[in-house]
Amino acid sequence: EGVVRFEDVHFSYIPERPILKGVSFEVPAGHTVAIVGPSGAGKSTISRLLFRFYEPASGRILIDGQNIADVQQSTLRKVIGMVPQDTVLFNDTIGYNVQYGRWDAAAEEVREAARLAQIDRFISHLPEGYDTPVGERGLKLSGGEKQRVAIARTILKGPPILVLDEATSALDSFTEKEIQDALDRVSQGRTTLVIAHRLSTIIGADEIIVLDHGRIAERGTHTGLLASG
Ligand code: ADP
Ligand code: ADP
Repeated sequence: EGVVRFEDVHFSYIPERPILKGVSFEVPAGHTVAIVGPSGAGKSTISRLLFRFYEPASGRILIDGQNIADVQQSTLRKVIGMVPQDTVLFNDTIGYNVQYGRWDAAAEEVREAARLAQIDRFISHLPEGYDTPVGERGLKLSGGEKQRVAIARTILKGPPILVLDEATSALDSFTEKEIQDALDRVSQGRTTLVIAHRLSTIIGADEIIVLDHGRIAERGTHTGLLASG
């Protein structure tokens, strides 16, 4: 369960300017595919189409064999967890931010999600810039740490499919190895589509798709791509 399939997808925002020019790929259930490529290649457009923010001009997008054109956006949001590059935190503790939308979850479940995303040590802190009790200062989180709050929230929701737009700012506070360990745990058992910026993610993915000007320029495993130059 959780197979994502693009079949010859064409798309343009404006008629004269094609953005995706026949994109086909499959993410098998539980696997991780990394999409890389220059800025403007069409990477984020792929995730927007997957949520039906836009419809393909031609071609099909299938989840478990079903054309998403026949699936309500609200249903898609339950099946697919999106972790955006920029996460805005609410004016409450990190724990509250993780639990958001899952008010039935037990405290232990929330803590476990935070642990998997490696933000459990922040759980009772307030983010910087919000009202804090007298004499206490909010915690300044890096872009990568904020993104891990969003990852923890998504883990708690438990969708079978995860779309992750990697924060380019994630490198500031954690080593590649620590990030990699967190991601390995998070993606376990989930179909994962990553718009990848970090080398460690690209190396660890089951398949890498190189998108250029709306076409798949290359695809393969990282060793395969290295061998082909
Ligand atoms: P990437 O994620 O690879 O950087 P995007 O998928 O965000 O690229 O964008 C692909 C192209 O589509 C870019 O040239 C971008 O300027 C254009 N684009 C993105 N969103 C819109 C929009 N809403 N209207 C018109 N053009 C857009
Ligand atoms: P497999 O399908 O082989 O069990 P996974 O799907 O668990 O592998 O993940 C493979 C690799 O993809 C991970 O080692 C990691 O490098 C990368 N990856 C997985 N999920 C993510 C994610 N959410 N963000 C970034 N990279 C990820």
